[in-house]
Amino acid sequence: MPHVGLTVLGSGGVIPTNERLTSSFLIYDWRGYTILLDAGEGVQINLHKAPKSVHDIDLILITHEHGDHINGLAGLLQSMAVTRRESPLTIGGPPSVIEFSKETLEATSKRLGFEINYLVLENEGSLTVNKAGGDKLIVTWAPACHTQGSLAYRLEWILRPRINMEKLKEIGVRPGPWLTDLFEKRTVIIDDKIVSLDSISTPGKVVSITYTGDTAPCASIIDLAKGSTLLIHDSTYSSELEGEAIARGHSTAEHAALVAQEATVENLLLFHVSPRYRGYEAWKLYREARRVFPKTMLAWDLMNIRISF
Ligand SMILES: [Zn+2]
Ligand SMILES: [Zn+2]
Repeated sequence: MPHVGLTVLGSGGVIPTNERLTSSFLIYDWRGYTILLDAGEGVQINLHKAPKSVHDIDLILITHEHGDHINGLAGLLQSMAVTRRESPLTIGGPPSVIEFSKETLEATSKRLGFEINYLVLENEGSLTVNKAGGDKLIVTWAPACHTQGSLAYRLEWILRPRINMEKLKEIGVRPGPWLTDLFEKRTVIIDDKIVSLDSISTPGKVVSITYTGDTAPCASIIDLAKGSTLLIHDSTYSSELEGEAIARGHSTAEHAALVAQEATVENLLLFHVSPRYRGYEAWKLYREARRVFPKTMLAWDLMNIRISF
């Protein structure tokens, strides 16, 4: 059954602690395509506990150049090299992140033993990153309200359309191998009839995850997240530190909930928890957000979420 899995590798913000490593999320679909969103320090430790392999990762997307989102990258690549990764890896992020990656890693890339493809992402845009059997995964990015150039990402899996057998009967053609062609070409001629995919199918199911990285409440993120199955939103502070949140380009739990409500998402996952909230103190963030948006979860390291289509 098509599904998307998510493992929280780092749910904290600013500095890693015993309880929470910094921002990192591993997302993998039923075909095995695997994306790492941000690479906070120590990401490998939780990757091993998950347990997942550094070789599983196909695409790394980084939101911005702050250390709590990128400090794990160099170690991750070194481990890939030491354990003899062969398949190419794609790293995407704003220009400052790609520059950082190249400067620190390119000197050793000859010894990495595998190819790195860089995607320089600016402002906003959209890209199909994986396509198989008519299903596709699209990455869309938009500015976050944090540092200059910080990005937020939306991952959207779109299943191929489903053939409606009734409609097929109505136009008088029989199902056959030509249907495989139809998913690629969208229009085929069969039994002297022009058949378009749209005319005999219903749209495929969609699952989407939006990840903000660090951000203050942000109009472009509301647009990006519209209708998402899951929104993973910055929730660094509780409401009493609202002034600090805005001044530093972060959000309170309540801000995250208001964005979730405005963007009409289905579920909200709070992350980037400040190290000041230890243990059960972090539930304060959860309670504040839930008052506004009931379908809220609070991220903990190694938490797993599974989304079925
Ligand atoms: Zn951060
Ligand atoms: Zn930051």
